[in-house]
Amino acid sequence: MNGNYRIETKCIQSGWNPKCGEPRVLPIYQSTTFKYEDSDQMGKLFDLEAEGYFYTRLQNPTNDAVAAKITDLEGGAAGMLTSSGQAANYYAVFNICEAGDHIVCSNSIYGGTFNLFGTTLKKQGIECTFVNPDSPYEELAEAFRPNTKAVFAETISNPAIVILDIEKFAKLAHDHGVPLIVDNTFATPINCRPIEWGADIVTHSTTKYMDGHAMAVGGAIVDSGRFDWMAHAEKFPGLTTPDESYHGIVYAEKFGKGAYITKATAQLMRDLGSIPSPMNAFLLNVGLETLHLRTQRHCENAQKVAEFLSGHERVAWVNYAGLADNPYHALAEKYMPGGTCGVMAFGIKGGRDAAVRFMDHLKLAAIVTHVADARTCILHPASHTHRQMTEEQLAEAGISPDLIRFSVGIENAEDIIEDLRQALLA
Ligand SMILES: *Cc1c(COP(=O)(O)O)cnc(C)c1O
Repeated sequence: MNGNYRIETKCIQSGWNPKCGEPRVLPIYQSTTFKYEDSDQMGKLFDLEAEGYFYTRLQNPTNDAVAAKITDLEGGAAGMLTSSGQAANYYAVFNICEAGDHIVCSNSIYGGTFNLFGTTLKKQGIECTFVNPDSPYEELAEAFRPNTKAVFAETISNPAIVILDIEKFAKLAHDHGVPLIVDNTFATPINCRPIEWGADIVTHSTTKYMDGHAMAVGGAIVDSGRFDWMAHAEKFPGLTTPDESYHGIVYAEKFGKGAYITKATAQLMRDLGSIPSPMNAFLLNVGLETLHLRTQRHCENAQKVAEFLSGHERVAWVNYAGLADNPYHALAEKYMPGGTCGVMAFGIKGGRDAAVRFMDHLKLAAIVTHVADARTCILHPASHTHRQMTEEQLAEAGISPDLIRFSVGIENAEDIIEDLRQALLA
């Protein structure tokens, strides 16, 4: 809505702007279909000549209001919701890549995204080179090929908690004429807005902090509107040459800053259909209204927990960028001065077996696949989310066999620490 409001106000106010007499709270438009007076009106919608709703697989007012809020929070030009974070990352890449293309991707990313890019995209003819995000610029530049179409990374990686040097990655992408896509799930726009640091496209698994209550799987894509597709027209024919499935429109010419999202909606949503239900978008919006409050508490609690763990004799190491001696502390201070997130990684003495024993003794912290919601939870990637990876791949992704991913919730910090203390002694 109003770009001048501060981010806390946007969490509450953006997206849904009721007119006189309309519901104050975002309504759930639980309707697949929308009615028109004459055939010509409907025809224009199908030709992308007019704006409006006709079928929820393409667009729905509830979903759009929530997408508009997330777009506003990220400072983007256009955005869309998807049914999951996986769909968001898939669409974000597939919208500008096709068989024969290549992407460069940080190797410190979510396991699901690693499989998507490393295995599934490969079957569709899109190759991915995984790089160590901490490598110097010159080394990273060697990963590029003439057919490279995008660079992908996570602001705070799940689960290794590596903080991305966003400016380095933006320069790397732009020097090679391609956009930087950043998955900002863990930082959330409250703590980091990658577009301000040069990212072109931001994705989210809204399933995590944005929803915040582990109620609905969802995703979002936000486009900054800043990448000049026409300046690199030969690389991105999908945006810069006529789309025969829409009577030859050229997205980059017709939709300007909205080109990328319009194409992803009009083509990918139309053909692949990873749309969220309006009910889920409604729940996501409820979560977004308290995102700024929760994020702050997650960070406060996580800082206390990290300090407790790093001082405990049975803990071998703690990776949390809020700790002054953490290798990513300086990057975190630069890109996320208000805090990083509630998720940390640590290892306890005794390795893999000790990790499993320790986890089984926790009472408050639950073992769940999920992370980044109101309830404190814990996971052992080597035996859960990343169990498909070989030991070598795990090592490359910075995931040691003893790595425990701990997601600090918004309970009382002392209760969380008490639980850890008793399990460490057990
Ligand atoms: C969970 C997660 C995803 C996948 O999102 P889903 O909503 O589970 O499909 C992608 N990226 C990151 C960083 C995640 O944490």
